[in-house]
Amino acid sequence: MSDNKTTINELKSIVESFVDERDWKQFHSPKNLAMSLSVEVAELMELFQWLSLDQAREAMKAGETRENAIAKIADILIYTLAFCNRNNIDITDAVKKKMEKNIQKYPADKFKGHF
Ligand SMILES: [Mg+2]
Repeated sequence: MSDNKTTINELKSIVESFVDERDWKQFHSPKNLAMSLSVEVAELMELFQWLSLDQAREAMKAGETRENAIAKIADILIYTLAFCNRNNIDITDAVKKKMEKNIQKYPADKFKGHF
């Protein structure tokens, strides 16, 4: 599986099967999943906590920090997909709608190169 051959729906199904096989839906309240997602994001930040900007960029080129960051990013997406599964969220529709709002809010001709 790779990004250019996999649909979001396939990933959602993999996560859903994993959860179903363990009877974990009962634990997947919006609160629990939001908190779990936040914990995983914090664990990603922890990898770079005491590094300079340049050290953090260097750490993502190869090695243990990069591997750990990839694992954390996977956890973050897994919890995101679990949240979508439990709450009937079409993430493609949600991302497209939010990006349309972002395009309106931050027109490229006014925000190019700065915030
Ligand atoms: Mg964890």
